[in-house]
Amino acid sequence: MVNGGCSVCGSSEVVYRRRYSGEAFCRRCFLENMVSRVRATISRYELLKPFDKIVVAVSGGKDSLSLLKILYKIEKDFPRASLIAVTIDEGIPEYRDEAVKNAVKYTGNLGIPHYIFGFKEFFGFTLTEIIENGIADIINLQPCTICGVLRRKALTLAARKFEGTVIATAHTLDDIIQTYFLNVLRGDTRFTPIGIRREAEGVIPRVAPFRLIPEYEVVLYAYFSDILFQTHVCPYAERSMRDEIRAFLTKYEEKFPGSLFAALSSFENVYMRSMQKDMKCRMCGEPTSREICRACEIEEKITQRLKR
Ligand SMILES: [Zn+2]
Ligand SMILES: [Zn+2]
Repeated sequence: MVNGGCSVCGSSEVVYRRRYSGEAFCRRCFLENMVSRVRATISRYELLKPFDKIVVAVSGGKDSLSLLKILYKIEKDFPRASLIAVTIDEGIPEYRDEAVKNAVKYTGNLGIPHYIFGFKEFFGFTLTEIIENGIADIINLQPCTICGVLRRKALTLAARKFEGTVIATAHTLDDIIQTYFLNVLRGDTRFTPIGIRREAEGVIPRVAPFRLIPEYEVVLYAYFSDILFQTHVCPYAERSMRDEIRAFLTKYEEKFPGSLFAALSSFENVYMRSMQKDMKCRMCGEPTSREICRACEIEEKITQRLKR
């Protein structure tokens, strides 16, 4: 690469030029910079506390394994906090089997307690079952929708079992901006900030320590720390609205570096001011903008069909 060396140590082995900040990094300095930026994000938004029992959502993909590794490094400075890794297995053969294998290997290497829960344990069915028996079609929902909503609920149920005080997920800046745009395009103005700690009686808050980290930097972090990448692709992945938005935002950020950060601050400064107070789901007590949360609604629909 041309134009000088690493902005931190001066090494000529530059592996990454960050366009939105103008900095260049060698491998070692990039890895360290990621950890310190996640640390700064945690303290800026007060995402974690010194006595937290942190339940880390580990799907086994590169993002979640990167998060686990970084939190492991950061939490060494907080001996009274603890980390637990939880994997939710929705039951997709091969795809999830590989991810679970990676998660087991990785948590084992770091010495972090790891627990795996299947959809079956919480809901009585696996995702594959309800796709193959046609229920997903009958209730007219995409597999990704059912999977995403129920994985989220399963994670909360698992975290309750361990009396976790906070759930950490690997959502990146990209994920969060995509969701905000999706909300706008669906006409949904009931914004709640994603991945910021919000305390409420009887609710385990969810935090996203990667909320200020662009997705491609997490990919780079995983790559340079020899984290395993999955070779199997989810067989149910479909062209969704999110993919369209992702493609658009990626292109836009490439042309105009820093746009994702600008979008985050617009959403969070302007729209969040008009934020409404959450209601509680009548069935599970989790925060929701409706009577019954989407997870309980989907679960109920599937269970009724299964009984017939
Ligand atoms: Zn360097
Ligand atoms: Zn609910």
